Amino acid sequence: MDYPTRFDVLVIGGGHAGTEAALAAARMGCKTLLLTHNVETLGQMSCNPAIGGIGKSHLVREIDALGGAMAKAIDLAGIQFRVLNSRKGPAVRATRAQADRVLYKAAIREILENQPNLQIFQQAADDLIVEGDKVCGAVTQTGIKIYATSVVLTTGTFLGGVIHLGLENYSGGRAGDPPSTSLAKRMRELPLRVGRLKTGTPPRIDARSVDFSVMEAQPSDERLPVMSFIGKPEDHPQQISCYITHTNERTHEIIRNNLDRSPMYAGVIEGVGPRYCPSIEDKIHRFTDKSSHQIFMEPEGLTTPELYPNGISTSLPFDVQIELVRTIRGLESAHITRPGYAIEYDFFNPQDLQPSLETKVIHNLFFAGQINGTTGYEEAAAQGLLAGMNAARRVQEKESWSPRRDEAYLGVLVDDLITLGTSEPYRMFTSRAEYRLLLREDNADLRLTEKGRELGLVDDLRWAAFQTKRDAIELEKARLKGTYIHPNTPASTSLASKLSQPLNKEYPLLDLLKRPELDYWDLAHLAPGDLPQDPQVQEQVQIQVKYAGYIDRQAEDILRVRRQEDTKLPLDLDYTQVSGLSNEIKNKLANVKPATLAQAGRIPGVTPAAVSMLLVHLKKRS
Ligand code: FAD
Repeated sequence: MDYPTRFDVLVIGGGHAGTEAALAAARMGCKTLLLTHNVETLGQMSCNPAIGGIGKSHLVREIDALGGAMAKAIDLAGIQFRVLNSRKGPAVRATRAQADRVLYKAAIREILENQPNLQIFQQAADDLIVEGDKVCGAVTQTGIKIYATSVVLTTGTFLGGVIHLGLENYSGGRAGDPPSTSLAKRMRELPLRVGRLKTGTPPRIDARSVDFSVMEAQPSDERLPVMSFIGKPEDHPQQISCYITHTNERTHEIIRNNLDRSPMYAGVIEGVGPRYCPSIEDKIHRFTDKSSHQIFMEPEGLTTPELYPNGISTSLPFDVQIELVRTIRGLESAHITRPGYAIEYDFFNPQDLQPSLETKVIHNLFFAGQINGTTGYEEAAAQGLLAGMNAARRVQEKESWSPRRDEAYLGVLVDDLITLGTSEPYRMFTSRAEYRLLLREDNADLRLTEKGRELGLVDDLRWAAFQTKRDAIELEKARLKGTYIHPNTPASTSLASKLSQPLNKEYPLLDLLKRPELDYWDLAHLAPGDLPQDPQVQEQVQIQVKYAGYIDRQAEDILRVRRQEDTKLPLDLDYTQVSGLSNEIKNKLANVKPATLAQAGRIPGVTPAAVSMLLVHLKKRS
């Protein structure tokens, strides 16, 4: 049976990638279907109930700047908000929110169900309809055929998923959900490079069995941050604390004594796990000199006593999990509500993707999320938005768009994936971006919202709010620029105690703001007129002016490499014909098929000389 109607865009999978993909395509006016196993699990957090953190909040703010849902949803669901690295520079500051899982899912579902052009359908996709080298739709588990111009696949950890708990294992997509076995089999028939990765989760604990009095409480920040540029602290639900405790020698001893019962160490798991989110057995094995590891006891929500003990992800057998948990201070009588486990799943080599996230070999088929070798909700959602947007552009017969590395963390993420591939789950860090000072979480809207509007991703409400904010920043800078402070006046005297050197001549306030000893709030009230109401505007003026020198220097660096970014390399370029290149470099280039000259230069082993030869070759061709 054919599904009643054809769609422009079909998105398979309703996780973090799939929901943003479906919303993006629908916002752009495409008739979109989100096909997913279970409507009840839309927006489900498979592992830790938290959004944001170092590097990740940058992605969340970028999704928000492009009209996506994640930031809005966490503002409505966040029960503990903190700014990490708040004493460091703005480039590495990051907002993190503990989430109430139920509220988060409800917020995502409400956004999905109120999105025009978007329909949701609950069924497993078991097969793709591929004609020649083009995808045309999918077939569900009950044989329903769904046709669409573009298909976005966002199946997360479900493809060929195998769950491990001790030496026992069984097929599953995540605890309580079925795996995607038929589709995995079908995908392995396509000419795409497939591999196995693994990830894990800790046992959950009933808060009523925990002694919090011996743990350190960690409340929300006093000044509550927001994740969305159009969010307000009043949007947040009640705020509650997380707690900190530690493993100890006894915990480590139990783990060491049982390593032979761990599927990872017994050689049962072949997939590589996340380096930056290791299991507790991995940590004990790798960091033998450490006698203790920190554990954050994170509430799973306001209406449940379940806790997520962040830091003890494990796939050891359940009896060992009980034993090790009960060695931890405050958890001596802990009741485990769900065992921890590891999951292995198929992923596809992201080097087989174009910057738009369309596969190179099957036209109109896009991949986003964990299927591309990443880990994390934020990484998945960011890719989903990009893939959904490009799937819609394909329908609209428009050229694809992907941000450059100097425009967005999303650009860094995609470029890293498609250029370098990945052999372990990839997560975002600020250290992955070379233009960190430009790519701050605080300016994601200023970097991307205009582009988002042009692409059709940003609605009128957000656009109006953005314009108001952008204009207010420029007005405020003009106000400071136009106000001069003269030596020996009441205004300069009011600053005397803060100045490292007294004023010897008149200065505009804007120039004084560049001095390290002064900040915006010392100066703003000295100019005639009112301070802007919006704290985001005030913060932006402070950052833009204080770091102007560094920012300008990075902007110059970017201009220098821009020409290479703009030089496109055809997908069908025959690298064997480029004279002067070594066979090794030819192989590397043929393997990655870079989209631009700059991307070619970022492939490890491709030298600047090789890039020049490529350029000469291109000129000869044209
Ligand atoms: P998912 O959130 O997995 O969503 C996939 C969706 O696709 C699901 O709704 C599923 O039902 C649907 N689906 C799959 N196949 C089909 C099909 N054939 N037809 C229809 N629908 C389908 N991330 C971290 O950052 N740190 C961690 O420590 C961490 N630990 C994890 C531990 C476990 C046990 C698991 C399961 C995940 C963990 N993650 C962790 C990963 C995190 O959950 C993912 O990165 C994120 O959810 C990926 O989003 P996604 O949209 O790609 O996939």
